[in-house]
Amino acid sequence: MANLSLKHIYKVYPNGTKAVNDFNMTIDDKEFVVLVGPSGCGKSTTLRMIAGLEEITTGELKIGDSIVNDMEPKERDIAMVFQNYALYPHMTIYENIAFGLQMRHVDKDEIDRRVKEAAKTLGITDYLYKKPKEMSGGQRQRVALGRAIVREPKVMLLDEPLSNLDAKLRTQMRSEIVKLHKKLATTFIYVTHDQVEAMTMGTRIVVMKDGFIKQIDTPKNLYKYPENKFVAGFIGTPQMNFFNGVIEKKENDLIITFTDSNNSIKVPFDLMMKVKSEYLDGKKPIIIGIRAEDLKPTKAETGIKVRVSHTEELGTETLIYADMNLENDDFAEANTKVILKDTGFKEYETDGIYNVKINELGIHLFDKETEISILPRIPEFNTYSGSINNCNLEALNTSFKLPKALESLNGLCEVKIPPRAILAGNDLICKVKGSEFINGKYLINLDANGYNMYALRDEDVKEETLSITFDYKLLSFNVAGKEYKPMPLINGIAGTFVMHEVKEEALINGKAKKKKVPYYSLAIDNTLLPASALTAKKMCLALPGREVFNTPFRYEWSPYDLEIADTGLDAEVLDIIDYGKEKFLKLAIASEVFFVKTNKEYSGKVKVRPMPESTSVVELKRNIRIV
Ligand code: ADP
Repeated sequence: MANLSLKHIYKVYPNGTKAVNDFNMTIDDKEFVVLVGPSGCGKSTTLRMIAGLEEITTGELKIGDSIVNDMEPKERDIAMVFQNYALYPHMTIYENIAFGLQMRHVDKDEIDRRVKEAAKTLGITDYLYKKPKEMSGGQRQRVALGRAIVREPKVMLLDEPLSNLDAKLRTQMRSEIVKLHKKLATTFIYVTHDQVEAMTMGTRIVVMKDGFIKQIDTPKNLYKYPENKFVAGFIGTPQMNFFNGVIEKKENDLIITFTDSNNSIKVPFDLMMKVKSEYLDGKKPIIIGIRAEDLKPTKAETGIKVRVSHTEELGTETLIYADMNLENDDFAEANTKVILKDTGFKEYETDGIYNVKINELGIHLFDKETEISILPRIPEFNTYSGSINNCNLEALNTSFKLPKALESLNGLCEVKIPPRAILAGNDLICKVKGSEFINGKYLINLDANGYNMYALRDEDVKEETLSITFDYKLLSFNVAGKEYKPMPLINGIAGTFVMHEVKEEALINGKAKKKKVPYYSLAIDNTLLPASALTAKKMCLALPGREVFNTPFRYEWSPYDLEIADTGLDAEVLDIIDYGKEKFLKLAIASEVFFVKTNKEYSGKVKVRPMPESTSVVELKRNIRIV
C-alpha cells in the first residue's frame, strides 16, 4: 500500500522525442488511476518510469515517502502486468505464479500460501497443476495477475492487460480487475487507449495527448466538465458533436449562434455565468460542443431544425444521424452534421425535418484556436466595470480603497478579479448563493450587491453571508483601453552552472589530508550563487557528464523566495510596490525586472539572495523543468 507523487516528470528519449512533459500528480493510497489517451501519447512511458524500467529524464518520483528515481525496479515494491502475459509454457500454473518468489528466495511455505491465496482470489485453483496451453486467454491473463499479486506489492501497474482478449472477455475481466482492486486494497495504475475501459475502471483518470496531461479527474467530471475539446471528444460515445459558433450577451440572455447553419438559440445568462467575458461580443470564433443525449427531437417549435439522414436502433436507444444544414447532401463532409439520441426504438423519416431541443446544461464552449473551455468550472476572473479616482475603485455599487501600488490608475475601468483573490475582509458583505467542491477547493457563488461573484477557498462557507476584500496584487485592470497586469509572481533570469574544486583538509583514515571538494554554483550576470546540494544533484543527473556545464538555464524564484542580503546578485531598486499588508521591491537585475517581498524600504544598489532550496531550474534547449 502506498501513495505516489510525481513532480515535474519529463521523459526525453535519446533521439529527442519528448514523450512526457511536466507530469504532475499525487496518487493516494488505494486509488485506481487510469492513464488513457491515443497511441503515442506517453502513457506507457509514464508507467515504465514509475516501474523503473525507463529512466526519468528529470523530475521527482516518490513512492510512499521515498524518492525512487535512482532505485532499481526490484527495490520499488511494485508489480507490473503487461499486455503480453508471456507465461513459461513448460511450467505449471503453480510454478508460473511461484517463479518470481522463488527467484527472491522466499520461504517455500510462504510461497505455497501466497500462490494458493492468489489462485483462490482469481478463481483458478482448479488449474494450478495444468500447463498454460490448457487455459483460455482470459485464464492466462489471470495467471499473469496472479504472478503480480503474490508479490504483495505496494503498487500494481497494469499496461493494457486486456487488449489481447476478445470483446466479451475484456468486459468480464474489466469488472474482475475492479473487484480485485477492492479486495487487495492496493494502489492500481492502469494504462489503456480505450476510453470505455478508463471510464468503467478508474476512480480517477489522467487523459494524455502528445506527452501532455490534458485533464485529471473522476470519470463523471471528465464527462460533465471537460476542460478542453480534446477531452470532450475523447470521452463518451458517440463522440460529442462540435460546431463552429459565436456567442453574444443580450440583456439577460446568451445568444448562441451556429455559424455554419445559421441556427441560433437563446439561453438564460444565469446558466452561463462562468463564461469568459471576452467572448461575449458575438464575434470571437468558438466551438460549441453538445453530446447526443443533450439533443432531443421534439414536436414543439423550439430549438434548432435538422434533417434526418439515417438512424441506428440499438435497443435501449436510437441514434439519429442528421444535418443542421437542411440542404446538405448526406455524403458530403460538413461541420453541420449532428448525432442525436432518443430512448428505446424510435422511427424517424429519412429526409424528415425535425425540431431539436437542446439541454442548456449540456452545452460546452471552447476557444476555436486553443480548444480550451471558455466555460470553465473555476472561472478565471470575475469581471466588473467601474471607475478609479484618487485610489478609490467604484465598482459593485461600493467604494474600495486601492493600495498605493495602484495609485497611478485613474478613469473608467474594467477590473478582473480571479476567484482566489477574494479574501475574507471588511470591504463588502456578500450573500452566499451556493458552493461547489472542485478538486479539493470550494468555489463559493456570491451575490455582491446584485452582481454575481465566484470566490475560491480552502474551506466551505456555512454562513449566509461572507464579508470580503481583495488581494489587490492579483487584480488586472483595463483603464481607458490600457491593460494593467498584476505583479508577476515569478522572477526569472538566464544563467549557467559551474563547478570549482577547492582543496580542503579532511580526515582520511585518521590522518589530516588535503582533499579536493567540488562546489557548485549558479552563474548569473557575473555573480556566483551557491547551489544547494539537492539542486546541484538534480542538475547533474539531468545532464550527465560535462554537458551540464555547457548548457544554458533559466533560474526562477517567487518574490517570497528572495531576500535582500550582504551577498548575492547585484540589483538596483527601481520602486517600492506597496500593497498595504505586503510590500515588494521592484528591482533591476542585469536586464531583468525582479520583484522581491520586503519588510523594509531600500533604495539604490542592493544584493539579492535566494532562500535555500527555492530555485527552480528550466533547461532552455529542451524546454524542460529540471528542479
Ligand atoms: P503510448 O503508451 O501512449 O502509446 P509511449 O509512451 O509508448 O506511448 O510513447 C510515447 C512517445 O515516445 C511516442 O512518440 C513513441 O514513439 C516515443 N517512444 C517510445 N519509446 C521510445 C524509445 N525507446 N525511443 C524513442 N522514442 C520512443
